Amino acid sequence: MELRRRVEELLGPGGAVASRWPRYERRDGQRALAAEIALCLEHGGLLLAEAPTGVGKSLAYLLPSVLLALESEQRVVIATCTRSLQDQLFERDLPALLEVLGVRLAVARLKGKQNYVCPRALELQQGEGPEEDEVLETVRAWAAADPEGDLDRFPAADPEAFRRVRGRIAADPAACTLATCRRGRECAWVRARRVAAQARLLIVNHALLAISSGVEGLLPDFDVLVVDEAHRLEGVLLGQLERTVSRHRIEELLRLVGSPRERGRRGYGHGGALLARLRGYAAPLISGGGPPGATEAIERLARRVGEARQDLERLFVALEPRGARHEIYGARDRYRSAGDLLGGDFEALEAVLGHCAEFARGLQRLGLGLDGAGEAGGELAAELEQVAGRFAGVGADLQGLTDPAERDWVYWRTAGGRGVELHGLPITVGGHTRRMVLSRARAAVLTSATLSSAGDFSFIAGRLGLGEQHGVPYATCSTPSPFPLARQMRAYVHDGGRDEAAAVAEVVVALAAATGRNQLVLFTAHERLRRARARLLDVLPAGRLVLAQEWDGPAGIVSERFRASRGAILLGVQSLWEGVDFPGESLEILVVAKLPFSVPDDPLVEARGERLREAGSDPFHDDAVPEAVLRFRQGVGRLIRRGDDRGVLVVCDPRLLAASYRRPFLDSLPVPPRRVGSAADLAAEAARFLAGSEPVEDR
Ligand code: SF4
Repeated sequence: MELRRRVEELLGPGGAVASRWPRYERRDGQRALAAEIALCLEHGGLLLAEAPTGVGKSLAYLLPSVLLALESEQRVVIATCTRSLQDQLFERDLPALLEVLGVRLAVARLKGKQNYVCPRALELQQGEGPEEDEVLETVRAWAAADPEGDLDRFPAADPEAFRRVRGRIAADPAACTLATCRRGRECAWVRARRVAAQARLLIVNHALLAISSGVEGLLPDFDVLVVDEAHRLEGVLLGQLERTVSRHRIEELLRLVGSPRERGRRGYGHGGALLARLRGYAAPLISGGGPPGATEAIERLARRVGEARQDLERLFVALEPRGARHEIYGARDRYRSAGDLLGGDFEALEAVLGHCAEFARGLQRLGLGLDGAGEAGGELAAELEQVAGRFAGVGADLQGLTDPAERDWVYWRTAGGRGVELHGLPITVGGHTRRMVLSRARAAVLTSATLSSAGDFSFIAGRLGLGEQHGVPYATCSTPSPFPLARQMRAYVHDGGRDEAAAVAEVVVALAAATGRNQLVLFTAHERLRRARARLLDVLPAGRLVLAQEWDGPAGIVSERFRASRGAILLGVQSLWEGVDFPGESLEILVVAKLPFSVPDDPLVEARGERLREAGSDPFHDDAVPEAVLRFRQGVGRLIRRGDDRGVLVVCDPRLLAASYRRPFLDSLPVPPRRVGSAADLAAEAARFLAGSEPVEDR
């Protein structure tokens, strides 16, 4: 029987899933979605599938994926954006489904290398203080007993102390290979890859999927790909493709090379910087069978370390943007030529490029000279080769970023706490999506709660380079929400005047006083959040909990505190617009400070706009509006997470009702928003609605 029919039967009334799934609820949308996905998996092609919260999207793609992997020789890869969803699928949803179906299947999850404990680093690491010593001891006991070595799963009694040591005991993606380390048998990362290679269904994350296209053997070949949280794929690909050079990146390499007396911080191998080790025990081995003049070569490189540090200092002083500190700090300053960056003086740049090339060449030659020098010599040779490769890489990046000639790239510099950084990105990820993600599978499903702008998928498809014109035709499907949203939600527009901080504070204070419910306030920029926070702290009565993302902790920490509180106010930017779950009373009021348009003078936005204009498109209507609509939908999606939730949305931006481009924003709301005269009236209406006694699911 074809896969689609089997999936429909299993999810249909009396089917195995319907009758055996714990707390199964009949969801017609889920069944229809699963059938569409099964069709795509069986016959190939690309499906963009939008399914809002409550549809049961995970089961809708897991079921056909499991059946296909069970009954054919095909391997399925499922990629999520967040590691938390990856864990939920692997630890909860997938085992439950296999049990319901009464089948066994080789399944695995694989995360990025830096998520696994490194036994070598763990052994060498010493705590800074008794708290860290205690954590390290517990991690050692846990690592000995837990074969997976996934640091996300370590049950930290002291999360703060664990957070501090985590980076120091994790596998370092850039600093080791199996050739440089003899601990392969104990290595959690090596083990995880071995298990992944055997799996018929493998759960990974977007970042690993993207990296794997350039790393031979990182993921086994696969036939079918399901990408969940697909609205975030473009951002992840951009993150992978971005080239960055900072002073820190080059200094880190110089530190690894060191001078003959320096020791390395992590103490890899026999401990200490490469030149110290070469001089200490390897030089005789090199001079025995290696290139003539090895000792002189080591001394020359040692002298070069000091010169390189001085030239690096000169270069990064020259790269500093000009202007008042408060104007340049944190700003993304676009440049289009080497002259924009350095004026006419390229001497320090050429010197640093020369050092990178010399270190790359010199270290590689020394490594070749260690060939055949026994196991320890072989390990050092591999380390030399790897650091040589990193010098070559940073040299190539520095050359590329200071000679911004690629027409399809955009370049900018930032100045901040870590000093000046140079950045470069491709303006569009289309070709990369096809090469890095889609070309590797014969069938692919991209799914998310938000993929369309008012039912139109062309924006996300355009951003990802999909469509007939790119040789990647796609089908789409949208599943309606199973929730009675019109009964569950009220939406208001508050026009509090031009001062955004004052308008937001006025409405939040009124809502807090009238309802006492949890409020999430979403901003489009940190600076806007900062101003509103200052205003709120001025006018709110004492005792009201106000949490601000980054101010009071990263998104995960402030979200936890918010979830556990009542009457709290959480101020968020960026990551809190999406992917956070606040069900029930943990979120009943959502305030959107402004429609979430990107900043028009951001280098990437500006460059994208230029390309669109050249192609005859209108960057505002064809790109900025649909992008903002998707982001708006993601933000609004935080409010109603369950069938019995009740929530109030307040948008403090009158453009939602007045702007010429308002229609797709309005169409994305399940209820039409109303303008209410004053903040006090709005708060009183919201309080009445939230106190409503009729159950929302009583249709
Ligand atoms: S290969 Fe060695 S150094 Fe690298 S993560 Fe594994 S144990 Fe650590």
